[in-house]
Amino acid sequence: MKRDYAVIGLGRFGGSICRELSMEGMEVLVIDNDEDKINEYKNIASHAVIADATDEASLKELGIKNIDHVIVAIGDNIQASILTTVILTDLGIKKITVKAQNDYHEKILNKIGADNVVHPERDMGKRIAHNIISNNILDYLELSDDHSIVEVKAGEKMVGKTLIDLDIRANYGCNVVAIKQGKDINVSPAAEDVLVEEDVLIVIGSDKDISRFEKNLV
Ligand code: ADP
Repeated sequence: MKRDYAVIGLGRFGGSICRELSMEGMEVLVIDNDEDKINEYKNIASHAVIADATDEASLKELGIKNIDHVIVAIGDNIQASILTTVILTDLGIKKITVKAQNDYHEKILNKIGADNVVHPERDMGKRIAHNIISNNILDYLELSDDHSIVEVKAGEKMVGKTLIDLDIRANYGCNVVAIKQGKDINVSPAAEDVLVEEDVLIVIGSDKDISRFEKNLV
């Protein structure tokens, strides 16, 4: 299904989003005020335009109002990022995703009506930190300020045991919501199922509980 996207700002983050969306066959309009960036992406995106995104008239002229989802990936220039987001919300864009540089930036973006604020460096840092704690932690996803989901490979402390044996809920306050076995995913794991090597547990809980679970069992 083709949908329209616009990516504003072609730094590492915006550039990577543009490449992926284009590779998936999506129509992507990219906007940057740097001519070199536009030249770099003109053969990748469907449309590449040099414009200052803080100029409402330019955005209107580009037909930004007809685009369903706009991604604001202006990095260091926080003022330009905020101003662009305000213009896009005023124009009534259906979905606006914005990259935040820091926590204050994130708060402001949420206040002014960005639908989705992403913080890639911080989130990737967290994921890598959890992976550093143990190679068995495959992924880590923050659900809210204090709840997360982790994807954990069944290690030696888990293999051969059942969920009852491990009693993760009673011992750590976390819930095993699914178990992946290769391409199969069991979304209602039975308490008596014996864990085997290569099983991947998807565990949900508060950050405090997940941290205890990671320290003791992973
Ligand atoms: P990253 O951290 O993802 O690499 P950068 O800060 O390096 O992000 O890149 C941001 C991009 O946004 C740059 O290519 C820059 O030219 C572009 N940019 C900055 N301000 C504006 C603006 N007002 N209008 C359009 N593009 C902008």
